Amino acid sequence: MATIEIPQQLLPGDGRFGAGPSKIRAAQVEALAEAGATLLGTSHRQAPVKDLVGSIREGLANFFHIPDDYEVVLGNGGASAFWDIACANLIEKTAAVGTYGSFSKKMAASVESAPFLDDPLVFAGEPGTYRIPDFDERVDAYCWAQNETSTGVAAPVRRVPGSQEAGALTIIDATSAAGALPVDVAQADAYYFSPQKAFGAEGGLWIAVLSPAAIERSAKVNAAAKQDDSIRWIPPFLSLESAISNSRKNQTLNTPALCTLILLENQVRWLNEQGGLAWSSARCRESASIVYEWAEASDYCTPFVTDPAARSTSVVTVDLDDDIRDSDVTSALRANGIVDVNGYRKLGRNQLRVGVFPSVDPDDVRALTRCIDYVVERL
Ligand SMILES: *Cc1c(COP(=O)(O)O)cnc(C)c1O
Repeated sequence: MATIEIPQQLLPGDGRFGAGPSKIRAAQVEALAEAGATLLGTSHRQAPVKDLVGSIREGLANFFHIPDDYEVVLGNGGASAFWDIACANLIEKTAAVGTYGSFSKKMAASVESAPFLDDPLVFAGEPGTYRIPDFDERVDAYCWAQNETSTGVAAPVRRVPGSQEAGALTIIDATSAAGALPVDVAQADAYYFSPQKAFGAEGGLWIAVLSPAAIERSAKVNAAAKQDDSIRWIPPFLSLESAISNSRKNQTLNTPALCTLILLENQVRWLNEQGGLAWSSARCRESASIVYEWAEASDYCTPFVTDPAARSTSVVTVDLDDDIRDSDVTSALRANGIVDVNGYRKLGRNQLRVGVFPSVDPDDVRALTRCIDYVVERL
């Protein structure tokens, strides 16, 4: 197939539309360059790096308007590590998990693999929908994802009625939602994410906004695990107790990637300067609407998520007609510098997926839709 050359004037200013890793702004890279001669290559146990971590924790506390008794905790390993941290430290015996895509299923798989936990109660939804667990008196932790990145579905963050009264925790995977989708973190006990999505940093870290109930649960579970007759194993690396005590000192248990911290600190500061979560969620809503409205008007593609209320405003998925191959579209776009708009491979649909995180300019999203039209007309 001959290569399609998209005219310069149609191209977006920035061609990165990944669902994570996502676009990193130039100012973040400049912050990294500036830190190159001073921070990089220095100890994370000394004031300059601890101040950086402190600024991230404080910036996120402001950004999410966290209740006074909540804490921002962080550690190495990304959101994937937090699935196992939740199993080891937060779930006492029985979790209920909503599963409706690859990421929410992985949380359920972690719970299933923990020999000291009961098999979870799984509430499964079809891809393209969400399913929040129902109340069950056996359950001590309710888990679901605010944004199922594999399908572009957004789910509410609202406690399951009766769960808090029953002493159960609400544990939300907010990886591709945090920073982009509105949230009241008081509706969760652990609201956790990685920084390479809406926060436009690199991977490698997990961040969790924890309630007093989550901190208390972790202390209780850790104390119980130290008893001789306990069968629970809390690998030291996955100890939430250690992460909490290190975070309070603006440190991580083991050596963090300073590049990730610098990129993240710059992004949190930028987001707060722009107007915080209200600003970023409005910007993401605008960008997402551009794609959904374009797809609805298009004669060759449609939004994958049929319920408008379940459509993500950070990761947008659109199905293509059968006579157009998604890989033809994505390779033509990539040849023109527009990258990472491929669907989630394991979902196996003829689909495009667009990350419209706060760093992405809505004008670039408009340009993207024009470029897709241009390519499809010429395939
Ligand atoms: C990306 C993603 C993860 C995994 O994040 P890592 O940093 O790669 O561990 C988990 N959950 C959701 C919803 C995600 O989008």
